[in-house]
Amino acid sequence: MERQQRLRIAIQKSGRLTDHSLDLLARCGLKYSRGKDQLMCYGENMPLDVLFVRDDDIPDLVQEDVCDLGLVGLNVIEEKRLAMAARGAQARFELIQRLDFGRCRLAIAVPDDFPYRDLSSLAGRRIATTYPHVLARFLRENSIEAEIVTLSGAVEIAPRLGRADVICDLVSTGSTLLANHLREVTTVLQSEAALIRTPVPLPDEKADWVRRLLVRIDGVQQVKESKYIMLHAPRSALPQIAKLLPGSESPTVIPLDGHGDKVAVHAVCRENVFWETLEALKAAGASALLVLPVEKMLP
Ligand code: ATP
Ligand code: ZN
Repeated sequence: MERQQRLRIAIQKSGRLTDHSLDLLARCGLKYSRGKDQLMCYGENMPLDVLFVRDDDIPDLVQEDVCDLGLVGLNVIEEKRLAMAARGAQARFELIQRLDFGRCRLAIAVPDDFPYRDLSSLAGRRIATTYPHVLARFLRENSIEAEIVTLSGAVEIAPRLGRADVICDLVSTGSTLLANHLREVTTVLQSEAALIRTPVPLPDEKADWVRRLLVRIDGVQQVKESKYIMLHAPRSALPQIAKLLPGSESPTVIPLDGHGDKVAVHAVCRENVFWETLEALKAAGASALLVLPVEKMLP
């Protein structure tokens, strides 16, 4: 009964997505307590509980309606979708929002001494990966016939162990590849974290909380880069200044008592404000420039 009324979201228990996922939920206003090794934690101020699991289990937990929501990488989502399609089934979870963390790419990398020219160099080779279905689609789309060696981890050492000629693995900075004498040659899939939901319709109250959560997530994502900028300027410089403010809607213009033609300009910029922009604003006549971070925003 309890389960009926509270939303349940699955996130990665411990890994690259964990801190960002918890941070996102906290920024959405969720207060929770988490003990060590606890599988689940209860939201104290929202009817939302968090279940900690391996990221690979998240799509199933959501499509089987054990959890209403899940936060997981597009790479895992796509592999799951294709694996199900290969069995003639259709994935039942729904992707509802991409999130701006967990960015990485599934890429093919070859040993330093591998004679790579273009994709055709992969023909007839053994490619080690933990994403066999995404890789198979890529090879099919590029008409390359190669052997896929499916591993459950430690893909980057497969060439050295003689288990494969090249690899197809997740990369973000490329430092792991470098350490293993591998060279990235092509991208197979761009990935980032995303929010998925159960295919089962939610009762009104839960559906309402999902909507509220989505609005808050949107707000959180928007403020990440947003800045509040304040400055003084002669009224005549306003058109020029408005053009320089990065990603802002019409700024608020406030007259300054006793300063004749001078006004104060306040604006929300949806992008970061760099020194170059401030210098350009100053050159356009602005003074007393102040840039503040934005904490919350509700469009
Ligand atoms: P689990 O124990 O939950 O199965 P894992 O080893 O599969 O953990 P992590 O390495 O923690 O997973 O990665 C989780 C997700 O983080 C990946 O599926 C991917 O979406 C994202 N990610 C971002 N950058 C990277 C990267 N450089 N390497 C691997 N994953 C990355
Ligand atoms: Zn995993």
